[in-house]
Amino acid sequence: MPAQPAYQRILLKLSGEALMGDDAFGINRATIVRMVEEVAEVVNMGVQVAVVIGGGNIFRGVAGGSVGMDRATADYMGMLATVMNSLALADAMDKQGLTARVMSAINIEQVVEPYVRPKALQYLEEGKVVIFAAGTGNPFFTTDTAAALRGAEIGAQLVLKATKVDGVYSADPQKDPSATRYAKLTFDEAMMRNLGIMDATAFALCRDQKLPIKVFSIFKHGALKRVVMGEDEGTLVYA
Ligand code: UDP
Repeated sequence: MPAQPAYQRILLKLSGEALMGDDAFGINRATIVRMVEEVAEVVNMGVQVAVVIGGGNIFRGVAGGSVGMDRATADYMGMLATVMNSLALADAMDKQGLTARVMSAINIEQVVEPYVRPKALQYLEEGKVVIFAAGTGNPFFTTDTAAALRGAEIGAQLVLKATKVDGVYSADPQKDPSATRYAKLTFDEAMMRNLGIMDATAFALCRDQKLPIKVFSIFKHGALKRVVMGEDEGTLVYA
């Protein structure tokens, strides 16, 4: 009998920047397709997958074009950027044979349906990928916090934080060849070492809810699948 996945329901957090590939801005089609291929592999194993996507490839409330703007207004623009990314991701998923549903924390019903928790749970049970757009729906938060929040709400067993590096290292592996990857760390250890796994609000929420976080690279081929199978990949942060 083939091995069973270690997790049945996961929340995957992708940064907006991950969609850029080597471009300076926006969405790189080949990159998004590669990402979706990795996701499709675990969905096809029967794992329920929810996604929160950032907006940093388009707009951030605290950087770039937002300088000098009212913070809340800029944050709403950032949240709208995540809606654009969600639509692109859902489109790529549909083309890959997955069924994706985008649910937004801000009502824009002509474009995507609003987030309704029981509906999201129903979609997940039906094997659809649910993409949570518009972050938490509130300014002054981040999509990392949205990932922790939605992860807790849907009863995900793991929040997967996709980064460029394949885990958390003792030092920057690009600068220090002696840097070693932590296979696992407790929330307390991660805090003590000031490792900056997710922003403070997201981290605190996961810690309170005892919702483990796995830091891994979405661009390392097969890494997402290995995480879902419970293999030694990336870094697990646990209570
Ligand atoms: N944002 C927000 N509230 C949220 C989530 C996001 O105001 O709950 C805004 C904020 O301006 C943020 C932008 O949306 O800078 C894009 O999200 P984020 O920076 O988390 O994206 P990522 O870094 O993951 O690409």
